[in-house]
Amino acid sequence: MMKWPTTNDNEAGIYIHIPFCRKACHYCNFHFSTSLKLKSDFLEALKKEIALRSNYLEGKQVTTIYFGGGTPSVLTATEINDIVQTLHQHYPIGTLREVTLEANPDDLTPEYIDSLKDTAVNRLSIGIQSFQQAELEYMNRSHTAAQATNAIDYALNTHRFLLTIDLIYGGPLLTDEQWAEHLKKVAIWGIPHFSAYALTVEEKTALDYAIRSKNSPPVDPEKAARHFTMLMEFARTNGYDHYEISNFAKPGMHAVHNTHYWMGCHYLGLGPSAHSFNGSSRSWNAPNNALYIKALTQNLPAPGDVEVLTERDTFNEYVMTSLRTQWGCNLQKIENNWGAESQKYLLENSQHYVSEGKMILHENHLYLTSAGRLFADAIASDLFWV
Ligand code: SF4
Repeated sequence: MMKWPTTNDNEAGIYIHIPFCRKACHYCNFHFSTSLKLKSDFLEALKKEIALRSNYLEGKQVTTIYFGGGTPSVLTATEINDIVQTLHQHYPIGTLREVTLEANPDDLTPEYIDSLKDTAVNRLSIGIQSFQQAELEYMNRSHTAAQATNAIDYALNTHRFLLTIDLIYGGPLLTDEQWAEHLKKVAIWGIPHFSAYALTVEEKTALDYAIRSKNSPPVDPEKAARHFTMLMEFARTNGYDHYEISNFAKPGMHAVHNTHYWMGCHYLGLGPSAHSFNGSSRSWNAPNNALYIKALTQNLPAPGDVEVLTERDTFNEYVMTSLRTQWGCNLQKIENNWGAESQKYLLENSQHYVSEGKMILHENHLYLTSAGRLFADAIASDLFWV
């Protein structure tokens, strides 16, 4: 069993949401616009938000920056440098442990990758999703299967960037054999980190409408469970730590920024729809590019909301996130932060999962087993303090 990584309480991360995409993927419910005409206005507004919120992290050292989206690879190297330089002007940024740029394969030409060498970006997160052309078209991705392969080749050949890729399994067109082929490619390339997600039908997405109107076969949960089981076996036999339910890393290659989220570190989210956390509350910007630009142009805070977290919220969040990781739920921490009664409650309620082989109790930590990971969300919600 693994111990939680150590971190300094004084560390924090910054997430920047780039709310533009070249095409709308059919399954996606993130915030983005497929029109890039507001891009330069957005970048001006973002710089204002960077300045306006400079006290949010209360002087904590920023050690990670994450450009997410949307599609951050719509930014040029000059635009990325401009943002990072503005961050340096307003936040205590020491040695940056990780600066991630999410990128789509159609943007990752050799010229673009070369241009990124002159930025602070040291990690590329490539939205591959599938190596099958038919699947990419089904998902309405903006890239082709050939672009997916080329992007990985280019990125690996630079020897400059840490690399992670995203894959989606369980879709109606993806056979078990094809999924095994996808995983084989990951092993052959020796990709140091990857994330894999089950295709999920979110309400009001194009995929949702297509399935309801019988224009797409439904998503089969049994296939998704089969693919997840193949994934766990692949990780075990190919030297990947399955360190979070959807995340896999070669030893020492874990994502720093995302691991900090799961450890409860503070982070600031900038841009429309971005979320922030300061230990006692969560806040988020409204998912609206025009309103975001309008407010910041007038030097007003971005429209959004804030939720002060109760003890119950923080308990439930810790149970959910910790059980999803290989480091497990620390019962001593539960007692220290939420009291002996909470620890007793958790132990009693998890007992039947331990008897069923879905959880393990070891050295005062609760962990999900492989069998339990198939039901991670349901088990965690069942253990919530309600
Ligand atoms: S590229 Fe990413 S954010 Fe944009 S539509 Fe596709 S899945 Fe959503």
